[in-house]
Amino acid sequence: MKAVTFQDVGRVALETVPDPELVSPDDVIVRITHCAICGSDLHLLHGDIPMLPGDTCGHEYSGVIEEVGSSVHRYKVGDRVVGTFHTACGSCRACLRNEFHLCSSAGVLGYGPVFGALNGTQAEYACIPMADVNLRHIPENVSDEQALFCGDILTTAYGGVLNARVTDGETVVVLGCGPVGLMAVSSAFALGAARVIAIDLLESRTKVAESLGAIAIVSSTDNPVRRVMELTDGDGADAVIEAVGGPKTLLLAFELVRAGGRISAVGVSATETFEYPLRESLSKDVTFRVGLANIHRDIDKTLQLVADGKIDPTVAISHRLSLEDAVEGYRLFDAREANKVVLIPGARTAHAPGMV
Ligand code: NAD
Ligand code: ZN
Repeated sequence: MKAVTFQDVGRVALETVPDPELVSPDDVIVRITHCAICGSDLHLLHGDIPMLPGDTCGHEYSGVIEEVGSSVHRYKVGDRVVGTFHTACGSCRACLRNEFHLCSSAGVLGYGPVFGALNGTQAEYACIPMADVNLRHIPENVSDEQALFCGDILTTAYGGVLNARVTDGETVVVLGCGPVGLMAVSSAFALGAARVIAIDLLESRTKVAESLGAIAIVSSTDNPVRRVMELTDGDGADAVIEAVGGPKTLLLAFELVRAGGRISAVGVSATETFEYPLRESLSKDVTFRVGLANIHRDIDKTLQLVADGKIDPTVAISHRLSLEDAVEGYRLFDAREANKVVLIPGARTAHAPGMV
């Protein structure tokens, strides 16, 4: 089959690799109909997170069950499914506490040896472990393309907003208008925010947030602290969702949040530490939360929001390309010429790469 493989820092390739086979009785083989390039894949591309040459990349996918292991109960050949980007066993102490992201055997598909050395999903087929736990059926009125987002970025963002305990009528700042940030804008509105202020260095990215109803601030040309204070009568935001990753935006979040407010960080960074603004946090009584997404906890809710037409995750898509054009897709996304790239195995890119 064709698959996107990591070659070296800065380089991925489309290669022919052996078709996956069932390894364990709780595995299934999924024929991938849609997969995508995530901001997290850029950390691999940049060498911030180790990946072995030849390994298949990708952790966002939806598709159709092709083969089922003997101990899989919930799925049968032909079922349309979306998978969670991180895997969980469903039976360890963490999973029983609903903390699937902390599963004792958790891994991330296609995310290298540190994250379980699992095969990726930017491919024609993928073997999915512990399928009864790590897949969901796609509701009838939801397309494979829409469902794809529930396995990662929409549910990551939604969980980040939930963790910020956003309530009706609040003002929420979303830092970063990449695909995760855009999904956070939609999630904040879905969870009751009255106003969402979306901040990014790139105007092109804030434009999409604006189209979702957010107030945009381009932080490369405008001072985000001044603007947020103006918009909140000097208070700051009730909640800040950090969807970039790294010390700069984490520290900015402390400047943007109101006294008594909450910061929820979902951005990933290779930086091990940052200087926690202890005095400011103490005097402002800020709640700070950071953690990997708990997709299994929230995916049923996001699938329902999409099924009910309350969130359309496809607004984030700028490019739909054939899997064959994945290398170009990585280039476009890394250069920020693309907002979100969806890869479609078996399809031909309908337009010249670079166009939806
Ligand atoms: P992305 O790289 O497409 O988006 C990041 C955005 O942040 C870009 O639009 C960029 O212009 C903007 N940005 C960069 N520096 C900025 C700054 N100083 N101020 C304002 N904006 C800035 O990535 P994405 O797919 O949207 O993902 C966002 C982050 O979420 C990534 O770090 C990704 O790894 C992470 N993520 C985390 C989880 C999780 O489990 N917590 C899951 C998925 C993605
Ligand atoms: Zn991801």
